[in-house]
Amino acid sequence: MSPQQNNNPNKIAIIGAGGVGATTAYALMIKGIGSEIVLIDINKQKAEGEAMDLNHGSSFVNPVKVYAGDYSDCKDAKIIIITAGAKQKPNESRLDLVAKNVEIFKEMIPQITEYNDNCILLVVSNPVDILTYITLKLSGFPKERVFGSGTVLDSSRFRSLLSESCNIAANNVHGYIIGEHGDSKVAAWSLTNIAGTSLDDYCPVCEETCTRDSQEQIAKQVKDAAYKIIERKGSTFYAIALATSKIVRSILRDENSVLTVSTLLQGEYGVEDICLSLPTVLNSSGIDRVLTLNLEPEERDAFVKSAETLQEVSKNLNL
Ligand code: NAD
Repeated sequence: MSPQQNNNPNKIAIIGAGGVGATTAYALMIKGIGSEIVLIDINKQKAEGEAMDLNHGSSFVNPVKVYAGDYSDCKDAKIIIITAGAKQKPNESRLDLVAKNVEIFKEMIPQITEYNDNCILLVVSNPVDILTYITLKLSGFPKERVFGSGTVLDSSRFRSLLSESCNIAANNVHGYIIGEHGDSKVAAWSLTNIAGTSLDDYCPVCEETCTRDSQEQIAKQVKDAAYKIIERKGSTFYAIALATSKIVRSILRDENSVLTVSTLLQGEYGVEDICLSLPTVLNSSGIDRVLTLNLEPEERDAFVKSAETLQEVSKNLNL
């Protein structure tokens, strides 16, 4: 396919029709994002079953075509969302999945790019930062068109916990989790604000009673969230599906939204040649720009440490 070929601007392919892939299709469908969604899975029957189930709700949503396909159906998709691969078991970290999922990606990415070299690749499978980096290398696509869901989910968990603690709607609470979508993630408290006001100014006029300890508790709860959910129900899929649908909407609607997707860093805070999350502007071309905002020195140090954790893993990959 030539890079000039036009993709269908409303077509989305989802590789992996498991919990995350199928729920993402559902979130896209009920939010009216995209008009064609193809589900591709090594387990074709699973993809077929999910597509049938989703289609049976089509009279309740905006017109959308949902079907099970194979890699050739990637051919004119604007965005290809990758959710295939092994998931965490209880007590397993995301980085424990590296070996299994890298092998799957080595097989999968060339099959996608054979049919479409002009799309945006959005990686969701874990460990998402490492797999985004690998997808970038294996596809040969420009960095603007390959990124991961990164800490978009963690930032939403952060906002939701702050919303509960401050008794303020989550959409009026702004905050970002940066760094690895994993154990070394960093809460950027200095970028957090409520109703446009920094926490330093907001907290003294807030009627809730929380302390610096509560902030540490919230950051810890964000870090432990996936482990707690996996312990209870085996996997997480609703919030990541909503996070992924928000990323897709930002692209399809050319929104210039700021989201903490995982993208190739090229010197931001001195970090390079690794994919990690920072607040990033997203539009129909994919990554528009990464924002290097004013972090506190300890947040910056923690971010650099997060990068070092991933660089350690990445240098042992046999690409
Ligand atoms: P799942 O086991 O329910 O689904 C995975 C699907 O991938 C299965 O249907 C399987 O058949 C398919 N698959 C495996 N190898 C394939 C291949 N080579 N080609 C096509 N399909 C293949 O798992 P899940 O709960 O949907 O999780 C999927 C991934 O998403 C995991 O890596 C999980 O850790 C990750 N995840 C990421 C986030 C995030 O924030 N980034 C959040 C939750 C889960």
